[in-house]
Amino acid sequence: NENIADLDPEIAAVLDGELGRQRGTLEMIASENFVPRAVLQAQGSVLTNKYAEGYPGRRYYGGCEQVDIAEDLAIERAKSLFGAQFANVQPHSGATANASVLHAIARPGDTLLGLALDQGGHLTHGMKINFSGRLYDIVAYGVDPETSLIDMDEVRRLALEHKPKVIIAGWSAYPRQIDFAKFREIADEVGAYLWVDMAHFAGLVAAGLHPSPVPHAHVVSSTAHKTLGGPRSGFILTNDADLAKKINSAVFPGQQGGPLMHVVAAKAVAFKLAATDEFRDRQQRTLDGAKIVAERLVQADVADAGVAVRSGGTDVHLVLVDLRDAAIDGKQAEDLLHEVGITVNRNAVPNDPRSPMVTSGLRIGTSALATRGFGAEEFTEVADIIAIALSAGENADIAALRARTEALSDKFPLYPDLQQY
Ligand code: PLP
Repeated sequence: NENIADLDPEIAAVLDGELGRQRGTLEMIASENFVPRAVLQAQGSVLTNKYAEGYPGRRYYGGCEQVDIAEDLAIERAKSLFGAQFANVQPHSGATANASVLHAIARPGDTLLGLALDQGGHLTHGMKINFSGRLYDIVAYGVDPETSLIDMDEVRRLALEHKPKVIIAGWSAYPRQIDFAKFREIADEVGAYLWVDMAHFAGLVAAGLHPSPVPHAHVVSSTAHKTLGGPRSGFILTNDADLAKKINSAVFPGQQGGPLMHVVAAKAVAFKLAATDEFRDRQQRTLDGAKIVAERLVQADVADAGVAVRSGGTDVHLVLVDLRDAAIDGKQAEDLLHEVGITVNRNAVPNDPRSPMVTSGLRIGTSALATRGFGAEEFTEVADIIAIALSAGENADIAALRARTEALSDKFPLYPDLQQY
C-alpha cells in the first residue's frame, strides 16, 4: 500500500493538521491565499516527475510533448491576462524571478534603487544579506514618516544623485498604489531600467482594480500565490523582445535548472481562473474588505488605545497597523490575534524602535478570506473582532472573541469535500 497514511503517518498527520488549521482559523496574512482545487490537482500531479530544461519546442530532454502544452498555455494566458507581449512562467518562486530579473538587466556592482526592507520593500530589493544586497550597490528610498507614502521627489533626487542601473518599484508592505508613470519618467531621466515587482497586487491588476505596471515598466516580476491565488511560484513579463531573450536565459540556465512542470501547469490553471468574472468579484471583495478593516481601526476606541493605521487607510488588499503608541508590540499583537483565531504577521513600521523579531506593526490582508467567500458583512465582523482585541490588549476576552471567529469560519467551510490522500 503506497498511501501516505500508511507509508508516512507522521507527514499524513501534518497534512491533516494543516488542513484543520486552515479550516478552523481566519487567514489574514497578506501574502497568503487559498488555491482552488484545480490548482491543487495540477500541483499534485505526475508532472512533478518530468524534467524539461529549456523552453517549449526547445528542450534539452525528450518526452516533453505534454509539458510543452502546459507551458505554452501558461505563457499565453499570462500574456493575455496582463496585456504583455512576453512571459516567462518558469521561476520557482518570487525570489527566483527577482534574481533572474537582476541577472538579465544588471551586473554585479551595478547600483540599484529600491524601497528599503524596513519601509515596506522586499528582501530581494537590496536587503544587506540577501543576494541583491551582496551583489549590487544598493541605494534605498523610504516612505515619508508623516504620510507613510513614497516620496517621489526623494526617489528622483536619489536617482539623479546615484544614477542607478535599475529602479525597483514594488513592495511587500505598503497600503497604497504606486505611480508607475512617474517612476518610468524618473528611470528615463537617468537612463535606468524600471523593474516593477507586483507580487502582492498582481491579482488586483489582473482584475482591473489596480493600475497595471506592464505599460510602464521595462520588466515586471510577480508571484502567482498572493492576491493572484495560484501556486507558490513566480513569473516575469516584458514588452521588449530583447529583454525577453535576456530574461529567458537569465531564468534558465542563469538561475534555475529544470522548471517545476507541475507548478507551471498549476500556474496555467490559475491564470485561466484569474480571467473570470468570479475572480474579479473576489478581488473586489478583497479590496472592500481591506477598506472595512482600515475604517474600523481608525475609530475612536482603537485610536484611544494608541493603535493607528499607516497612511490612514488602504487602496489595496492590506492594512498596516502602527502599534508604536500602543500597550502591545507587534509580536504580542500577532500572538493575541492567534489566540483569537486570526492569523496575521507582525511587521516593522518605518523607523521602528523595536527589533525585526518583535516590531511595532501588523500587516493584515483580506485576500484569503475573500477567497473563502467573505463579503462586507463578514469583513465588518472580523474588523470589529480585531479592533476589540487590539484595543483591549492583554485584557481581551479571548474566549468571547474566539467564539466569534469560529462562527465566521463555520459559515464558510474551506475545501469542504477535500480528500488529501
Ligand atoms: N516580491 C515581493 C514584493 C514579495 O512580497 C515576495 C514575497 O513575500 C517576493 C517577491 C518573494 O516571493 P517568494 O516568497 O515566492 O520567493
